[in-house]
Amino acid sequence: MNHSNGNEAQPALRIIPRDQHTISRKNISKSALRVLYRLHEAGHSAYLVGGAVRDLLLDGHPKDFDVATDATPEQVKQLFRNCRLIGRRFRLAHVIFGREIIEVATFRGQGEEGDRHIVDGRILRDNVWGSIEEDAVRRDFRVNAMYYNIADFSVRDEVGGMRDLQDHVLRLIGDPEQRYREDPVRMLRAARLAAKLNFHIDEAAAAPFAELGPLLSEAPPARLFDESLKMFLAGHGLKSFHMLERYDLLAPLFPVTARTLKRGDQALRALIEQGLSNTDARVHEGKSVTPAFLFAVLLWGEVRAQAETLLEQGKDLALAWQRAAHRIVAEQSQHVAIPKRFSYAMEEIWALQPRFENRSRKRVFRLLGHPRFRAAYDFLLLRGSESEEIRELGEWWTRAQELPQEQLADELGPSKGKSGPSTGATAAPAKRRRRRGGRRRRGDGASSAD
Ligand code: ATP
Ligand code: MG
Repeated sequence: MNHSNGNEAQPALRIIPRDQHTISRKNISKSALRVLYRLHEAGHSAYLVGGAVRDLLLDGHPKDFDVATDATPEQVKQLFRNCRLIGRRFRLAHVIFGREIIEVATFRGQGEEGDRHIVDGRILRDNVWGSIEEDAVRRDFRVNAMYYNIADFSVRDEVGGMRDLQDHVLRLIGDPEQRYREDPVRMLRAARLAAKLNFHIDEAAAAPFAELGPLLSEAPPARLFDESLKMFLAGHGLKSFHMLERYDLLAPLFPVTARTLKRGDQALRALIEQGLSNTDARVHEGKSVTPAFLFAVLLWGEVRAQAETLLEQGKDLALAWQRAAHRIVAEQSQHVAIPKRFSYAMEEIWALQPRFENRSRKRVFRLLGHPRFRAAYDFLLLRGSESEEIRELGEWWTRAQELPQEQLADELGPSKGKSGPSTGATAAPAKRRRRRGGRRRRGDGASSAD
């Protein structure tokens, strides 16, 4: 077994000529090629780098193409009209082609001079330019430090990435503990890339997780939200989730979820795993997915528990759910910032759950016409693991959508109570229902609504 650590000599630079690797220009986006050629023609060095090179060598289809160059951001800007300089922590040029953005980063260096800001070992800002060799060693994993050279189509393997790629292993460059202290999000990247690539995390790279995982609580919540989307909405969510659990990284990121799972609630585990695997399936089928649904799944156990407590204390139904939802969202947002439009949708999905239990005619039609019905219904189906009752309830609502609405109205009988004549209670929602009826088929428990 190879216990690599920062003290072990890093493999030496290897240049792999074009006829000895599998990267072909036809798998590189046209926009990325244009950027590379333009930089090259202007006399700069220009490389495709990072995940794109890694994924191309693995026969994958990179979702984004990053470029590294010795040109400064200002020099890049002068070469491209469609260019914007962004970032303070890490200054970059974005070259924009319609919906595709090519990220162009200047090689980062090791020098002490310049705009680098480190506090308690954490890199808060890194804008010191350097050589390609220096740029390579500040990257996270060896497999992420390979450069495809547009000048001669060779691959520069700076620190042994090719070997790791063949061994399906993620090794950190340098001393793992120091690299995680510099940027704790690298721990999540390890778990995410291991899930995405089906690689294992080298022992030395995984060893500090238990001790340093809590540092993730201090990472910027907005950045953790972005990372969470990459973990859970990119087609390998279930596997990422298992990686987080296995490496003790779930608690610092999703303390609420970790807390409820620790109680051993098997139905809740089933709900989460099903929600994640349905989402993965949707992504693979090219369907849309929303963070709201997934976060609603992850936090459900605790929201339900708190709502039940509030109900026992005599709070009114709507208030109990609203208050429970607010509390849990507030707690979670301290770690992973959930944008308002999503947290609002989550709260609605939760708040509609108890309303499925009321099957009076008026309530049924009102719920069917609710704009968030579809997502809430998908959520109800996922909850089938909670009890036989909930499963039957889900089936009832499936059938309610399949029946012609007149027949449903007949079966439900006349509306009771003060709400007036039954025709009045059903007419308006029924109209709305017809309009959206086509979309409302049996769900797969990973709603796309947001
Ligand atoms: P994917 O795009 O498949 O999610 P990736 O490795 O390309 O994975 P990006 O976030 O696109 O991830 O980053 C591009 C490259 O930038 C990485 O391959 C790596 O070389 C470098 N990088 C990204 N984040 C870090 C980090 N936190 N620390 C060091 N290097 C990083
Ligand atoms: Mg990438």
